[in-house]
Amino acid sequence: MINLIIFGSPGAGKGTQAQLIAKKHRLYHISSGEILRAESSSKKYKESITKFINQGSLVPDDLIIGIIENKVKEKIKEPGLIFDGYPRTIRQASSLNKLLKKLKSPLTAVINLQLEEKTAVERILSRGLSSGRKDDNLKTIKRRFKIYEQETKPLLKYYAKQGKLITIDGHPSIALVNKKINALIKDLQKSHAEVEAR
Ligand code: AMP
Repeated sequence: MINLIIFGSPGAGKGTQAQLIAKKHRLYHISSGEILRAESSSKKYKESITKFINQGSLVPDDLIIGIIENKVKEKIKEPGLIFDGYPRTIRQASSLNKLLKKLKSPLTAVINLQLEEKTAVERILSRGLSSGRKDDNLKTIKRRFKIYEQETKPLLKYYAKQGKLITIDGHPSIALVNKKINALIKDLQKSHAEVEAR
């Protein structure tokens, strides 16, 4: 069983790659952004979530940690999970580590898609033409990048210290980036199977 996080700035290609990986390797895809967008149309959370998303701010840790924890408990099973957009703060990351350890299914690796901001912004703006997402406009994108720098980027060091971080260049085409990630996952699965067999 492998549990992966796909990491990167807004527009780095996390969602696109996570979908492809989930399909190919039969991992269950947990996208916090998608879950929150779905929840924001439900009565229970409507007010609390929509405001944060449309501003480009993070929803409060307590709220998202609870939502993800329930999802993980429900979906944890072979062959594993892929997290996309989660965690985004140190608090989220340490609570996820604890949860996965408790479930005896620790985090395998964090795949960091590295993309320069200028290219990422262009990608989001072109996605915005068809996504219908209210947060895909220049003002909100700038705020999302600021928050990424302040709150989320420190996770790179956090995971590097744990020896979990693998960085991949996100500039090439979707297909090329995907090919690299697939090769990497094969290696991870192989070394994981070797450890299990010991
Ligand atoms: P995404 O689809 O990953 O770009 O996320 C869209 C928006 O959902 C973000 O700008 C945040 O407002 C919210 N969001 C998604 N994931 C998280 C998270 N892990 N923590 C807090 N807010 C989140």
